[in-house]
Amino acid sequence: MKKTQQITVLGATGSVGLSTLDVIARHPDLYQVFALTGFSRLKELLALCVRHSPRFAVVPEQEVARGLQDALAAAGLDTRVLVGESGLCEVAAHPQVDTVLAAIVGAAGLRPTLAAVEAGKKVLLANKEALVMSGALFMQAVHRSGAVLLPIDSEHNAIFQCLPVDYSRGLGTVGVRRILLTASGGPFRETPLADLMGVTPEQACAHPNWSMGRKISVDSASMMNKGLELIEACWLFDARPSQVEVVIHPQSVIHSMVDYVDGSVLAQLGNPDMRTPIAHALAWPQRIDSGVAPLNLFSIARLDFQAPDEQRFPCLRLARQAAEAGNSAPALLNAANEVAVAAFLNRRIRYPEIASIIDEVLNLEPVVAVQELDAVFEIDLKARTLAEQWLSRNGR
Ligand code: NDP
Ligand code: MG
Repeated sequence: MKKTQQITVLGATGSVGLSTLDVIARHPDLYQVFALTGFSRLKELLALCVRHSPRFAVVPEQEVARGLQDALAAAGLDTRVLVGESGLCEVAAHPQVDTVLAAIVGAAGLRPTLAAVEAGKKVLLANKEALVMSGALFMQAVHRSGAVLLPIDSEHNAIFQCLPVDYSRGLGTVGVRRILLTASGGPFRETPLADLMGVTPEQACAHPNWSMGRKISVDSASMMNKGLELIEACWLFDARPSQVEVVIHPQSVIHSMVDYVDGSVLAQLGNPDMRTPIAHALAWPQRIDSGVAPLNLFSIARLDFQAPDEQRFPCLRLARQAAEAGNSAPALLNAANEVAVAAFLNRRIRYPEIASIIDEVLNLEPVVAVQELDAVFEIDLKARTLAEQWLSRNGR
């Protein structure tokens, strides 16, 4: 009989975390929840523990942990509550865990995701920021430990599905000409440029096709998400930035494509629902039901494509610049973006100023080689400090 896979869900209370738990709950014979982690949505974390009876739960602080531990005991559960980054790393690397779903948002996910990689787990990667910040070190750790890294970012999962199994021999060797990374263009694809100064966080978070966490929703509106995904694709598939072309496809039905030298273009299609890439990666190389409705091509009727406009989406240009510079540049870009997006969500800056802050940080801080993880966190901190300086200099 097949062994039930033990799964740790890092970022269980988030959008990707919840989609993952939905898929897992459909297959109790295949998957069992080993650990769940949350940060601010603690009532939701308690409810998830009651639903899935994990061995461990992780929260950020000791006091919160005590409260959750009491509530779990009152509910008759023997789930043990761990605390902070060390708790996250412990449940990511635990010897009894088979698969780790890395769905914490932002730089906070880097250490726990790397802990899973270093322990040689099957790692389902949603936390693209971790790979963007530390790409070279991250991929070295994957190769050293033998971890199986599977992308669940929908575009990268699509590309993975369209590549041959031996793509790691080199994209050129297996006949790939280009990766075509699709983007919806977000809620501001057609907003008059002059109106962008007045757009609100609510408008930025109202994505036309996908329901996601707030940070990635703003990244999608600015197309920084596509920029981060360009860098993510380069690391995952050993591609040069020039081999990855961004294509705006407003329907979000094609999740990305691979263009081969013989003129064939392979695409992966599906309804925009993260449960498809999650189910694909969980079961890979098998297939399981994800709960996603079959694609109805007749109701979609047409698929459109257009080139991205870098004047409208300066963040995409900045990300490509950082991808080409390599070394510390992507970590600078990511940290400056995290500060700028948080400032926009807190109404401290206007939407176009997200790009201004990132541009300044990239201009002020020289690009250096990165040899170790501590250096990545130093670069991250430098970029955050420079972004905060922009905010205080501009009275925000
Ligand atoms: P959400 O904001 O919905 O969820 C983020 C998760 O991370 C929550 O569980 C949150 O806890 C937790 N978290 C936040 N800050 C910290 C911290 N400092 N320490 C530990 N945990 C923390 O985000 P999404 O689910 O939308 O995105 C998660 C990741 O997946 C991101 O990297 C995103 O780019 C990527 N992704 C998301 C997609 C989507 O469709 N949503 C698609 C592709 C990639 P709490 O909620 O309890 O505060
Ligand atoms: Mg994506």
